Amino acid sequence: MSTPEAQPENLMEAIVSLAKRRGFIFQSSEIYGGFNGFFDYGPLGVELKKNIRDCWWNDMVRRRDDVVGIETSIIMHPKVWEASGHVAGFTDPLVDCKVSKNRYRADQLFWSPVVVDGNVVGYVSALESENTAGELQTAAEAFKRKKAIQGPLAPVVVKDFTEATEALYALIPSPATGEPGSLTAPRAFNMMFQTNVGAMTDGSSIAYLRPETAQGMFVDFKNVVDTNRVKLPFGIAQIGKSFRNEITPRNFIFRSREFEQMEMEYFIHEDADWAKVHEEWISWCEAWLKSVGLPESHLSRYSHPKEKLAFYSRGTVDIMFKYPFGVQELWGIAARGSYDLTQHAQASGKPQEVFDEATKKKFVPHVIEPAVGVDRIFLAVLTAGYAEEEVTDEKGNKEKRTVLRLSPRVAPVKVAILPLLKNKEVLTNRAKALYTKLKRNYAVQYDDGGAIGKRYRRQDEAGTPWCVTIDFDTIEKPGDTFTLRDRDTMQQKRITEAELFALLAEHVY
Ligand code: ATP
Repeated sequence: MSTPEAQPENLMEAIVSLAKRRGFIFQSSEIYGGFNGFFDYGPLGVELKKNIRDCWWNDMVRRRDDVVGIETSIIMHPKVWEASGHVAGFTDPLVDCKVSKNRYRADQLFWSPVVVDGNVVGYVSALESENTAGELQTAAEAFKRKKAIQGPLAPVVVKDFTEATEALYALIPSPATGEPGSLTAPRAFNMMFQTNVGAMTDGSSIAYLRPETAQGMFVDFKNVVDTNRVKLPFGIAQIGKSFRNEITPRNFIFRSREFEQMEMEYFIHEDADWAKVHEEWISWCEAWLKSVGLPESHLSRYSHPKEKLAFYSRGTVDIMFKYPFGVQELWGIAARGSYDLTQHAQASGKPQEVFDEATKKKFVPHVIEPAVGVDRIFLAVLTAGYAEEEVTDEKGNKEKRTVLRLSPRVAPVKVAILPLLKNKEVLTNRAKALYTKLKRNYAVQYDDGGAIGKRYRRQDEAGTPWCVTIDFDTIEKPGDTFTLRDRDTMQQKRITEAELFALLAEHVY
């Protein structure tokens, strides 16, 4: 990872700009002005994203004996979402500003009374940010100055709009206008995207784009049990797109309306020590995040307070990541009891039980669910890896280099093959032979354009861990060695083809 000193103050801006400049991420439908909450992944981005997915799939499914994978449809029977509780309850509290027509999530709209000399003299508001309390305090000071009220100002008390009483709705100013009187009471806004299936577009044809992949695992539970030799405890995993009509998509790809999830339902005996299994999965997820390059210093845990959990939930712990815009949820690990299978058993009339050989009784398994977003890992990886450094080139000149210190596991390009000169066939022939051989197993790039220093910089920005230069020593000296240049240390050493393959086998897995 990068050291904090090597990261610019406006890290988020720098990441967005690099993502666009180098073809990691584009705005969706950009030529039409973009489409809020939707993104496209460019040639480098798609490789990085695929690597994140592949690492997860390999570690979660292929390298474990107790997890199997599935892929379920994005549009499922609407009854699935009724049974799961999403139709009734997959909502965020929405607040409208009647003047600006802006919409806010009530739990992301903050306010405070302005208290001068012990008296409430008005209210201020601010949207969620890295420094919401500071913004509210500044607004309170400005309010006091504007109204020319004398006396000591009390520190603000940060509350969100869901904590406001009805009498306060008209008194809290809209963040858009700065004036009170235009905010509505919060109302439940269902985040599922609706569509119609078939030729009719009446109520009977309504279906939903899935807001999570998890329900696919519950609905197919019996299919998997009946067709595979699985025994509790075991998991069913899936990677796929999910869709949520987020009220305020923001922070680049952190919160978007179309995103990708990697979820796993780990089914356990109803009498199993769920807390132990829950803890094991939290640790597993933390270790996995480190294996794809996220530093421990940026990771933390947040345990949901018991009183805020859904009634069926035993406990939820989120693994949080320190993004440039604050510490936010990356991976949620929930102990969900037997709620989901029981709901589907009731709604479908099809029992979702397994047989316990020991007690000769049937029971509904309980479940531990680690659920993470690919796009959030993508952004975390860029955040941790981005650095701007001052380096000295071969001629002794100082220059800035932008580098993405990505783990070789997820780096979009693993090795760049650089012939020292592009018009010397002895060099390019050897370089192309190596390139062709590496290409069978790894994502590699052949780059013969421009000075070698320039080519190194290009690869640094793309996060390529190693560059291999084919020079005259390769051809003229015994041993058929190349110059291997390390992205992070910028050190160079000579290496044989066999050693290069061994290096890749060790680090790219
Ligand atoms: P948040 O509170 O941030 O909205 P959530 O608790 O609703 O997230 P879950 O329903 O637990 O999220 O979804 C599991 C994971 O899917 C999250 O931890 C996150 O990584 C990812 N995720 C959820 N919503 C989005 C989104 N709108 N954009 C990108 N990733 C998302």
